[in-house]
Amino acid sequence: MNPDIELISIGSELLSGRTLNTHAQTLGSALVKIGLRLSRDTTVPDESETIRSAVHEALERTDIVVVSGGLGPTSDDITRAALGKLFKRDIVMSPEALGELRKRYTERGRDLTPAAERQALILDGAVTLLNSVGAAPGERLDLPGGRTLFIVPGPPGEFAAVLEERIIPWLREQFRDAVPLEERLILTEGIGESDIVTRLEEAGFQTSEISVGFYPGFGKVEIRLSASKEHLWALDAAEGTLRDILHDHLA
Ligand code: ATP
Repeated sequence: MNPDIELISIGSELLSGRTLNTHAQTLGSALVKIGLRLSRDTTVPDESETIRSAVHEALERTDIVVVSGGLGPTSDDITRAALGKLFKRDIVMSPEALGELRKRYTERGRDLTPAAERQALILDGAVTLLNSVGAAPGERLDLPGGRTLFIVPGPPGEFAAVLEERIIPWLREQFRDAVPLEERLILTEGIGESDIVTRLEEAGFQTSEISVGFYPGFGKVEIRLSASKEHLWALDAAEGTLRDILHDHLA
């Protein structure tokens, strides 16, 4: 049985509308490609108590939680301290991450200040997840009961790098049986969503083996059909039926 995976994005700027939260899209689409599913996306402000309760609740629902943001050296970056308190872990220097920081700062001819060094802090017992684009690492914390918490830097480029280079390979290894869903897309134009549904109902279109999603926008509606590999026959049949029913509105 494959796990549900939850994302918790931390940052008051994400809630005030100053920054568009892109991490759910990045994570959700990466998971779909390897046959796993993002089951919930939560955004919380930079408040220790709220961070702790969000992470605690997510780990009660699912075995794998990805937390992002609030790891930097500034005073509003309180994620690691909040998680240290929740899991009763000290915050320690990661020798790997510190080595990487020294290398980067030396290459750029910059001094590694104590504030900059704080980017190499991790929770005691966590695995350091270095990434190719940023100095601040991610972390993987293996928790009792087979649960896993990933802690990932907030900048979108760093989030994507830790995800692709560290988290996705780990998930692939853990869940070798996971198979991506098969998808079929049908694009219609000149017909609204409710008229499409009426046509499908009148034609008696029904299917239990596949999922059907409708995504309207700019005079067109995209119909997305998905199913597991063993229901490929149902997927192909449904696509054919839908194309017949909507033949005069296919884009
Ligand atoms: P840093 O060390 O750069 O401070 P951090 O892990 O502490 O990294 P934040 O301080 O929370 O991350 O955010 C750094 C930058 O990344 C900010 O500009 C922030 O708006 C952006 N960011 C954080 N989370 C997200 C998100 N979910 N979607 C898009 N941008 C984000």
